[in-house]
Amino acid sequence: MKLYLRNQLCIPVIGFNRAIIYDLGRKDYHFISIEHYHILNTDGFINFDRISDQSERSELIKFLLNLEVIFEVASAQEEKRFPKISRALHHTNQLTHAVVHVDVSNKFIDFISQNHLQNLSIISAQIDDKLINLIESFAYLEIDGIYLYIERFDAEKLDEYERELARQPAIFSVNFFGTDKAHTKLKDNIYYNFFTESFGDYQQLLTVDKLFVNQDFFLEAYNKHSYYNGKIYIDQSGNIKNGLNNTQSFGNITSMSYDEFHQTINSNQFLELGNLNKNQTLVCQHCEFRYMCTDIRVPDKGAEYWFHHFECAYNPFISRWNYEEGYLDLNESGITVSASGCAINEDKLSETFNKIWSE
Ligand code: SF4
Repeated sequence: MKLYLRNQLCIPVIGFNRAIIYDLGRKDYHFISIEHYHILNTDGFINFDRISDQSERSELIKFLLNLEVIFEVASAQEEKRFPKISRALHHTNQLTHAVVHVDVSNKFIDFISQNHLQNLSIISAQIDDKLINLIESFAYLEIDGIYLYIERFDAEKLDEYERELARQPAIFSVNFFGTDKAHTKLKDNIYYNFFTESFGDYQQLLTVDKLFVNQDFFLEAYNKHSYYNGKIYIDQSGNIKNGLNNTQSFGNITSMSYDEFHQTINSNQFLELGNLNKNQTLVCQHCEFRYMCTDIRVPDKGAEYWFHHFECAYNPFISRWNYEEGYLDLNESGITVSASGCAINEDKLSETFNKIWSE
């Protein structure tokens, strides 16, 4: 009998109707059935004999070998040569992502001078001297990438400032909203992304292109909230918030000392959303995309689980995105979500599911 192990960077994740293999090495993903998920969800040898139909079994093995999700070993002793990869997150609760407006207080720059930011997003109505000056004032800080969000696209301004932007090595991307045509160009090592929607709409949306399959993202989402963990947003008035859509303020940066600022962002209340795991959240806990999506909605605490007042663009109970044919929202598919929990009308859901998937 042949012996197969699963590549430890190919992780099966179960959803309500189907499962996904996250190929963290190749940054790709593959859908599989729930039955096949249960067979693959082991760190030991995979027992393909659980599939009684021989052609189904050999098809699956061929499919998985081709994708290098599984590999064959010569003897049972070889198992220990391929140790299990830990899913624990080692660095926790560090401030890594900041979102600010172009008129952010200088205090912010002082306060984060000792932090290593992976990502600094700056929102501005336009590209102008003020924005360039702000970017320059971050030049001596440890920041992996600066992302600019320009609310109003103006082609003349872009021409005027393009060379200036190219001189700023930390800029990773410049994102324009309200453009005529969506496209992306890479120039001077900067990604210029042009979006037709408004910035307001863009920040609300979860779309397939905001799914990220890689090891860092997976580990973060597996343990924490992939949007709120390590994040801070300073709104236009200087209020410290968890994220762009949050209304709760943890105080105003303009009236804080260095110590007060750091106490605030390290407080349990501020860190609560970042420490949330998708398994603690209604609907998302049943979703096969849960360790690759960036959900920027504001969760609310329910009786046992957290929940959202607004629906995601994906309905995991019928496995459909809202732009796909046959999509129905949660309510229409028999799911009621509230603070007290998630109630499933089984008859309505199976009728809806069968109708969509038999077409
Ligand atoms: S339901 Fe939406 S937000 Fe929740 S895990 Fe799935 S894709 Fe992400």
